[in-house]
Amino acid sequence: MPTQPLETLFRSEVLSMSAYHVADASNFIKLDAMENPYSWPEDIQARWLESLKTCPINRYPDPEAKTLAIALRRANSIPEQSALLLGNGSDEIIQILLMVLSADAAVLAPEPGFVMYKQVAQSLGLRYRGVPLLADSFELDMPAMRAAIAESRPALIFIAYPNNPTGNLFDADAIKEILSLAPGLVVVDEAYAPFADASFIGELGHYPNLLVMRTVSKLGLAGLRLGFLAGDAAIVEQLHKVRLPYNINSLTQITVGFALDHGEFLLEQTQTLRAERALVLQALDETPGVHAYPSAANFILFRTLNKAADDVFASLKSQGVLIKNLSPQGGLLHNCLRVTIGKPEENQAFLNALAVALK
Ligand code: PMP
Repeated sequence: MPTQPLETLFRSEVLSMSAYHVADASNFIKLDAMENPYSWPEDIQARWLESLKTCPINRYPDPEAKTLAIALRRANSIPEQSALLLGNGSDEIIQILLMVLSADAAVLAPEPGFVMYKQVAQSLGLRYRGVPLLADSFELDMPAMRAAIAESRPALIFIAYPNNPTGNLFDADAIKEILSLAPGLVVVDEAYAPFADASFIGELGHYPNLLVMRTVSKLGLAGLRLGFLAGDAAIVEQLHKVRLPYNINSLTQITVGFALDHGEFLLEQTQTLRAERALVLQALDETPGVHAYPSAANFILFRTLNKAADDVFASLKSQGVLIKNLSPQGGLLHNCLRVTIGKPEENQAFLNALAVALK
C-alpha cells in the first residue's frame, strides 16, 4: 500500500462509486445482457478463421481502422459529410465524449436510462442530472426536459433510442425539439437499432449538434467490442484527440469487417429475435401478475404486480434462468425485471420458470 491514504490519492467521486457489477452467468440460461444467443453457421465460421490467417498480430493495428470504417459507413448509411469515431465498445465512446467536456460541464439524460452515462459522468466529476421519464409510458417528460435544459445548460445530453432499460422509442419530434433547444451536444445512442425501425442517422445533416452512436454488440458481435459515433467533423476531431491510438484491435477490425461482408446471417438472426420478441411479449401479456412494456429492442421490461421483483428474480435464478433485476435501482423501476430475447427454447424456459416464480 502507498504511504499516503487512498482517500487523499483518489478523487472523492471515485471513492464513493461502486464498480459496474456483472453477474456470473456460468451454468445459467443467460437472458440478462442483450446478447444475440446464436453462433455462426459452420461454413461462415470456417471462412472467418481462414481470413484471420492474414491478420498481422505482430504489428499494431491500423490506428484509424480505415477499411473497417468504410464497411461501417456502408452498412449503416452514414452520410459522407459526417465524420466517424470508433470505440472499444460504445462504452468507450461514452467515456471519450465525457472526457473532452470542460471540468464544470453538466450532462443530462432521461432516467431510467443506460447506467453508464451517469457512472462515467460522475467518475469524471461532471455535474450529472437525470430527468425522470413519464411514469406510465416511459416517454420523455418534455416540460421537465425543457426546464432541465434551461437550468443546467448541459454540454451533452444522452438519449438512448430505443431506450435501455425501458425498450421504447421516444417520440421522434420530442428528440428533435431537444436537438433544437440543447446548447451543446446531443448523443442519440442507437445501440438497439438492429431491432427498431427508426433512426436519427438521416437527421445528421440537419442538426449540427447531433451525434449518432451505434454498436455491433447487439447485432451479435458483443465479444469484439466495437462501437462507433457519427457526426459533425469539427466535433469528432476533438474526440479523436483523447482516443488512445490503437483502441480497435486487429482481430476486431478484421472480424467485424468480415461479419459485415457476410452479414446476411446476422440480419436473419435479428429477424428471428424480433419475431420471438413478439411471442414473448404476447405470453407476458397473457400472464397474470405481470405488466410487460412494448419494446423496440431485443429485451422486454416487465413489472411484477403481486410479488416483489426481488423474489421473482431469485426464483428464476434458482430455476437456472438469469435475467436482470432492475428493482434495486428504485424509482420508476421499482419491481421491474428485464429479460433479453433468446432462442425459442430459452424464452420458453424463462416463461415456464416465471409461471412457477409467480405462483
Ligand atoms: N448504449 C446502450 C443504450 C446500451 O444498452 C449499451 C449496452 N448495454 C451500450 C450503449 C454499450 O454497448 P457496447 O459497449 O457493448 O457497445
